[in-house]
Amino acid sequence: MGATKMNDEFIIDTEVGIKSKVEDEELKILQLYDDNHPMLSQKIPEFTGRFPNGSLTVLAKRLKMTMKLYNGIGLSANQCGVFERMFVMQHEGKVLVCINPKIVDESDDVQKQKEGCLSFPGMFVTVNRSKWIMAQWTDEEGTIYDGHLEGMPAIIFQHELDHLNGVKMTDYLRPLAKKMAKDKQIKFIKKMKRQYKKQYQESIR
Ligand SMILES: [Zn+2]
Repeated sequence: MGATKMNDEFIIDTEVGIKSKVEDEELKILQLYDDNHPMLSQKIPEFTGRFPNGSLTVLAKRLKMTMKLYNGIGLSANQCGVFERMFVMQHEGKVLVCINPKIVDESDDVQKQKEGCLSFPGMFVTVNRSKWIMAQWTDEEGTIYDGHLEGMPAIIFQHELDHLNGVKMTDYLRPLAKKMAKDKQIKFIKKMKRQYKKQYQESIR
């Protein structure tokens, strides 16, 4: 999930992406794909392997790095073209690693919040989400957690779990609203690119 507030440092470069400075091959940041990637429409099956699992540990680190670099608050593996039922999310100053996440119970009361998504740069969509959830997940060490989440963390968890079920935030929109959101996004990206170009030209003067 993308940050819901934009700041001055919010720069989108969809063509080039961001290169990692980390030399270690295994710990390179992951490639972020846009909303056309087929994996974003697929339900990702449960991880049934054993813990600890070296490749999941590395994936957790790479997801955290990638989320941080793009200024996100949640990121699922399939947004990066990785077929694992896993996401990372910000929670109380820490980053949770959630493998095989589940919602065990949820409130009927809903909350509305403008959501962003790293797969839809510059798009913000209001989605109805449960106010609180009882969630369960496993971290990369294999520890199982039960947690009561509410407010923003509950929204992030529901948004990221949707990704693992092949559901995008735009799937909640009616066709006209979807088109309007897309048009706004295109305008936003153009504006950002112009601004970025201007800043660049001014910096080399
Ligand atoms: Zn998202």
